[in-house]
This record gives sequence, C-alpha cells and structure tokens, in this order.
Amino acid sequence: MPMTPAADPVSLFRFVLVRTSHPGNIGSAARAIRTMGFTRMELVSPHRFPDREADALAAGADDVLSTAGVHAELVDGLAGCTFVVGLSARRRGINLPELTPREGAAQALAAARRGEQVALVFGNERTGLENDELARCHAMVRIPSVDDFSSLNLSQAVQVMAYEQRLALLGDAPLQAPPEHDRPLADAAQMERFYQHLADTLDDIDFHKGRSPETIMLRLRKLFQRAQPDERELRVLHGILADAQRMAQLANQREG
Ligand code: SAH
Repeated sequence: MPMTPAADPVSLFRFVLVRTSHPGNIGSAARAIRTMGFTRMELVSPHRFPDREADALAAGADDVLSTAGVHAELVDGLAGCTFVVGLSARRRGINLPELTPREGAAQALAAARRGEQVALVFGNERTGLENDELARCHAMVRIPSVDDFSSLNLSQAVQVMAYEQRLALLGDAPLQAPPEHDRPLADAAQMERFYQHLADTLDDIDFHKGRSPETIMLRLRKLFQRAQPDERELRVLHGILADAQRMAQLANQREG
C-alpha cells in the first residue's frame, strides 16, 4: 500500500508524457530520465509509438522504452499515484500551487519517502498540458524561463526535472514536506470515480439548470485536489452523493 515507506524511493517515481507528437522526444526523454537513475515512463496517447526515431534518440535507454506503459487516458497513466506534479511553461486557468523545479522535487521526494507513488507529468509539444490535465495534479512546476520565450523542448524540460529530482534524492535539496497523512490517500483512479459520481449527482439534482457543467466541475476538481482526501473520506463523500441521488429519485417519483 502507498503508506509503507519503500526501500528505494527512486522506484516510486514515474515520468508521464501526455499526447507527445514527436517520437524523437519520447526517445530523448527516455535517455534524460535514465541518465538520472529513473526507469519508469508512462505514455498517454502518443501520436507514434513505438517508433524508430524514439529508439534512435533513446541512445541505449532501451529498457525505459520497452517497459513504458501506453495508455489512452491520463488517469490510467497515473494509476496508484497520490502525488502528481504537472509541468507547464505557462500558468493556465487553474489555480494550483506553482513551484520551482527544486521545490517540486523536494515535495515529490517527501511524498516518496512516505511510500507514495509520484508522477511528473509533461504536456504536448505545441499545446502543453490542458486545464483538465492540470486539474489532476496536486502542484504545478514551472521552470523559470524568460517570459517572452518560455517554452523548453519537451525532453529538455524532462531533463531539468529529472536532474532536480536526482539532486533531491542525493540529498542536496532542502526538504519541504507537504503535510503528513495518517491514512492512504485516494489515488488518481479513485479520485476520477469520485468526480464521475459527483458529476452524475449534480445532474440528478438538476444543479446546472441549463448552464454548462464544465466550469463548475473544474472548480470542484480544484477544491478536492487541494484537499487530497484519503480513501475513508472519499467513502463518506460517495455515501453523501448516493443519498442525494436517492432523495432526487424519490422527489422525481413524487412529482411524476
Ligand atoms: N506551448 C506549450 C509548450 C509545451 S512544451 C505551453 O505553453 O505549455 C512541452 C512540455 O514541456 C510542456 O507541456 C511542459 O510539460 C514542458 N515544459 C516546457 N517548458 C517548460 C517550462 N518552462 N516549465 C515547465 N515545463 C515546461
């Protein structure tokens, strides 16, 4: 379970590349993470993979490519993770704590030291991470590039973060721990099921009244991501939603 501190925190880290356009970047990213001692890469909807260009640019980091998971949805690439850091060149509409790579690496290390699985998530080369992808993160890291030319090549951003993460693991970074948790936190898949239940319930109680549900769902995601509920808290919330759905059904029957 995520709360048992692992012998080797390195094995708790994964680098997640979302909707990568250029297979060469996947290869370069594999090389970048391998040089810093990491091996786990998860690919979400890559445009082309496996691919000769990826193999060529991995330059021998073949184990990273051959063991990389390929997923259709981000939530599957985050399976088991309770601390998710999104890397973004720009601040998006979403209000996440914005950290430097050093701070992000220190928080990620603190989570790993508690036995939690950690994901470092990188976006598409052109569009970056979308709001709904950042909404699945607990913190955002921005590499402090200049304002008028802020976007690094994807694999170079991976290299910077992997380097900072390695420095943190080697003990060079001051520890800046997020708050301690005494119970297993809900992982990404559990949070996703909760958001689905919440969305269904809001429909059932006719909360939207014709307005678009997307904005409110993003706000609610932000709220619950910030709260980092544990599994037991999530069960209580599911219970409340199930009761609200039951009451809505009763009310509908009475009206009908
Ligand atoms: N135009 C996109 C740039 C995408 S670059 C944008 O503004 O977001 C591809 C990916 O590399 C990004 O999604 C991000 O994960 C990473 N990246 C590039 N530059 C970065 C920076 N300055 N800080 C943090 N991540 C960065």
